[in-house]
Amino acid sequence: MRLLIRDCALFDNTAPRSLREPCSIAIEGAHIAWIAAEPPATYTADRVIDGRTLIALPGLVNAHTHSPENLLRATTEPMPLEPWLVAMYGTTGPLSERDIYLSVMLGVIEMLQSGVTAVIDNLWSPGPLTPEYLNAATQAYADSGIRAAVAPLYSDLAYEQSLAAAMGMSLEHTAFIADVKGSTPLAELLAVLDAYFQQWHNAYDGRIRCFVGPGGAQWCSDDMLHASADLARRYASGFHMHLQETQVQDIGTRQRFGMSVVQWLAQQGLLGPHVSLPHSVWIDNAEDIATLAASGACVVHNPAANLKLGSGLAPIKRMREHGIPVALGCDGSASSDNQVLFEAMRLAALIHTSADPDPARWSVASEIVAMATTGGATALNLADKTGRLEPGYLADMTLLDRRSAHLLPLNDIARHLAFARRDARCIPLLCMGWWWSKQARLSPSMPSRSWQRLPNRCRGACGNCPYPPR
Ligand SMILES: [Zn+2]
Repeated sequence: MRLLIRDCALFDNTAPRSLREPCSIAIEGAHIAWIAAEPPATYTADRVIDGRTLIALPGLVNAHTHSPENLLRATTEPMPLEPWLVAMYGTTGPLSERDIYLSVMLGVIEMLQSGVTAVIDNLWSPGPLTPEYLNAATQAYADSGIRAAVAPLYSDLAYEQSLAAAMGMSLEHTAFIADVKGSTPLAELLAVLDAYFQQWHNAYDGRIRCFVGPGGAQWCSDDMLHASADLARRYASGFHMHLQETQVQDIGTRQRFGMSVVQWLAQQGLLGPHVSLPHSVWIDNAEDIATLAASGACVVHNPAANLKLGSGLAPIKRMREHGIPVALGCDGSASSDNQVLFEAMRLAALIHTSADPDPARWSVASEIVAMATTGGATALNLADKTGRLEPGYLADMTLLDRRSAHLLPLNDIARHLAFARRDARCIPLLCMGWWWSKQARLSPSMPSRSWQRLPNRCRGACGNCPYPPR
């Protein structure tokens, strides 16, 4: 399958503020074959897109979310993480296979329509992590066409139950049953995860991958953390784990480990370039930042969730200055209420200014764009395959309609993307060979319209939904 996008403008995020136009991009299979001002006269494509009104940019990466929360947006007011966890788990009902399939698909639609072409889903469950649950969620990613790394979330310390007890409440009567946090033996959980990795890791030509997802050092035993690292190593996979989201976690982990959690993780050999660490808010000392930088681990900044839960501000500028890769995430929609990465970009660009009086230490637009693209690719462990538009890279890209009000007049593309981009008229193009053929069957019209039809498909009317209503 050959696709040619002709005469578009190409945003080169490795040379900020660089817009190359006119530019033609040839995509063969899933990869960018060549980029040139003029296509060779002899080149033939199966399909040609007139790009004269389009700007091509690397697909954005939502490097941290929780797909079950796509059903939980607008369910809580702002409150600190710890009571918020109790409220969320306390009100979450059980999720059937169909529920989680649709919840994933709902988030995917929102992401694709707003320029996200890859996601890391730290997938939790209100019940045990069963093969059926994991398969249903991952099948939705496979069916949707988005690139996904699914990191099933698990823990074995009764953290939320303890919080609930401290608040004079109990979670035992809720769908958040004890089985999910404590009673599933580690060996049993590892067997489920191993089978899951065997089935899904690098499936669909590598578009679907599995990461390990221990909830956090404060929620997991030493054995669970080490077993997770072993599993990731065995499959050459990623290790995705919340880190230091709140001051409560900072205090608790210092009591448990007798040192900062970063130093403990480093001592245990649990850090490395395959590790991505959502939040990392309460890391403000030079030693921990140097240790993270030396390890090659990536931090995922989630500004919307950090604001709603009052967690604090991750020192992303200092981290980047010390060479720590920083990616951006929306976090789950129960704490951020949407999966629009452009909003995370805008927040990341703006919320840190009031915390530091020196404007020289504020992030500029090109840095924010880098977090959403190359930073995200690093979190995915795909820095050499996606995150930029170059020949040989995966054709994960977003086409923006340059006639959109938020892009007019076009002054500085990086600044438009970081500060101004708000609406959602994006056309996602990804994994082209697979994606285009599938979309062509769904609808011959504009790709984004096809996504709007997916919920109808999932009502079971067409018989194609793998999880029709019972
Ligand atoms: Zn999270």
